[in-house]
Amino acid sequence: MIRGRFAPSPTGALHIGNARTALLAWLQARAAGGAFVMRVEDLDFGRVRPGFMQTQLDELRWLGLDWDEGPDVGGPFAPYVQSERQGLYEIALRRVAERGLLFECTCSRRDIAQAASAPHVGEEGPRYPGTCRERRVDPSVPSLTAHGRGYFALRARADADLVCFDDGVMGQQCFDPSAEGDFVVRRKDGVAAYQIAAVVDDAAMGITHVLRGADLLSSTARQILLYRALELPIPSFLHVPLMLGPDGERLAKRHGAVSLGELRAAGAAPERVVGWLAATCGLAEPGEALSAAALVPRWDPSRISPQPTTVTDEMLRRLRESAIG
Ligand code: GLU
Repeated sequence: MIRGRFAPSPTGALHIGNARTALLAWLQARAAGGAFVMRVEDLDFGRVRPGFMQTQLDELRWLGLDWDEGPDVGGPFAPYVQSERQGLYEIALRRVAERGLLFECTCSRRDIAQAASAPHVGEEGPRYPGTCRERRVDPSVPSLTAHGRGYFALRARADADLVCFDDGVMGQQCFDPSAEGDFVVRRKDGVAAYQIAAVVDDAAMGITHVLRGADLLSSTARQILLYRALELPIPSFLHVPLMLGPDGERLAKRHGAVSLGELRAAGAAPERVVGWLAATCGLAEPGEALSAAALVPRWDPSRISPQPTTVTDEMLRRLRESAIG
């Protein structure tokens, strides 16, 4: 049985781009008769806002999605909130250390920016130049989450190597993770970083299919390095295009990007929102209204274009009007 998931970060309101990704992840699991897991990625303590987790869950339910396991329904792999799973990340960090791939890094963002001779700016900022690579972590230290907390981060080595995977929408993808450099797996504040937390949880929760936004394509290569180091089974990946505003930039509030909450508060019918979202990626006709459940038989990733979806003002206007009007 396939197991899919959606992993929102409760750092803000869900907008239509997040909603589309959630809908597609849910469709993929449901169309295969599989299980769907909701996991809350709340490790970015500085950006997490109280109450957002519940609001996001309520809005996804309003849209017509449901989940078999999650923070509010429980399940065999609980807890489903990352801040409560630190013990598992500790174990994984130790394994990475045992492989000789973990090192202490005292570099500040500024050090890294200054050291970058040919700055390659990736998902995580400028390329890490490998300054502290030789400060290998002794795997016998009692606690890797406590080790040097407040003083240094822990990074995993990303040696030059081509990491390839077959993506369900984007096709064959190859990245050299060393182009972005060794990456943080435990932050300076002692908390596990996204890359390792996502890998540990997807594996521990038995996730077979990871569907997420295309902004995470190169993260997937880094995560594959961790799957290998931890000797965990690698799931299949499907990255869905991002939604861009009319100016070609990632859809944001300033484009009048609509949040699910806004649509809901204005009395929108979820079927209209689902129809609009599905139409933006070839799964429904423009103007069609249908429930998420009615869309399940239409799931067909080959209809999703790998190109980013440009959302014009006209499309946003139609969404508002058809959903609310
Ligand atoms: N928490 C991430 C986000 O909201 C998603 C990560 C993932 O799906 O792996 O962008």
